[in-house]
Amino acid sequence: MTGSDATSRGIDTSVPHPARRYDYWLGGKDNFAADRESADAIEAKFPGMRAGIRANRAVLRRMTTYLAAEAGLRQFLDIGTGLPTADNTHEVAQRIAPHSRVLYVDNDPLVMSHARALLTSSPDGATDYIEADLRDPRAILEAARERQALDLTEPVALMLIAVLHFVRPGTGEAQKIVRTLLDALPSGSCLAVTHFTTDFMPDEEKVRYQGMLDAGISDIWPRDRSAFTALFDGLELVEPGVELISRWRPEAGGDDTDPSRISIYGAVGRKP
Ligand code: SAH
Repeated sequence: MTGSDATSRGIDTSVPHPARRYDYWLGGKDNFAADRESADAIEAKFPGMRAGIRANRAVLRRMTTYLAAEAGLRQFLDIGTGLPTADNTHEVAQRIAPHSRVLYVDNDPLVMSHARALLTSSPDGATDYIEADLRDPRAILEAARERQALDLTEPVALMLIAVLHFVRPGTGEAQKIVRTLLDALPSGSCLAVTHFTTDFMPDEEKVRYQGMLDAGISDIWPRDRSAFTALFDGLELVEPGVELISRWRPEAGGDDTDPSRISIYGAVGRKP
């Protein structure tokens, strides 16, 4: 898409946006100069970003497979959809259970316009899309009910994959968001989260990264193991618990990338 197409659709291409930066790191083409500059600035200081993002996309697939095949869930609320790429949530879920219903939520208008065009459901299942902000979880729940996109009286897989780290830590906001969403879901629902961390970085790199946050160069906020684990309060963690994503139910052969290059925690919990 050209910059002028985007502008005519109400998309500000002069400001970097997480979805387009993520797309650039994954090797996609739905990004603009500001996104690429921001991505390169972050990667120059933290060269693990690209490996982490590829590992994140792989664990999104493994977690969705777990949720559909082992936990038996048929409804997915995927907040922070990202630009469509290979193995999107509904494709993985519907391969296992064609009737699966997926509600995608993102706050980027570009993501939503691509999602509507490309994330089309199998004939037996359903996909729907809401443009909304994770920081307003009540609006998401209301829209989900209104559109009857999901049946919130039946178990739902709540997926917050590489999105909660855009919510600034230290205020308890992320935990409140998770709690509000889970309170609306019945027993047997699951929460899947992946989240950036600096826990595995050498101290000097940690300090450098903090400098980037302070200077506004990065908006990806790390959480440490205990803050990440606290997101699952009241849930039963499924095996292997809180892990570096490359070690969360790895496939044969696995991903033996140095943990300090992955720097993303992942876990799935079940609401009792
Ligand atoms: N879940 C996908 C994409 C992650 S990229 C994956 O893991 O592959 C992060 C996505 O979250 C982007 O699409 C971005 O637009 C979206 N996002 C960032 N902040 C958000 C917010 N406050 N509310 C809703 N979506 C948000």
